[in-house]
Amino acid sequence: MSAANSKVPTPNPFYRCAGPNCGVLKGTSDHWWLMWASSEKFGVPVLYLCPWDEEIAVKEGTLHVCGELCAQRLQSMFLGNILENSQKRRGK
Ligand SMILES: [Zn+2]
Repeated sequence: MSAANSKVPTPNPFYRCAGPNCGVLKGTSDHWWLMWASSEKFGVPVLYLCPWDEEIAVKEGTLHVCGELCAQRLQSMFLGNILENSQKRRGK
């Protein structure tokens, strides 16, 4: 038995919001969202957005999102990246 009796029910692992300038830590009762981008299925980058799911949350590449605002910011980053990439490809 350790002297430090710190039996704090912390959510494990810790999830931090991926939103730009956010970084909020997930609590136990928050309603969070999950987002990820993948071009695996259709050959073009697709942005996925779904309600929190523990199984998906631990997958590599999944973004943890604290709320609608951060989801919108990440979506706009995703769109921006696509435009940037297509401009680069066209470039010269
Ligand atoms: Zn956030």
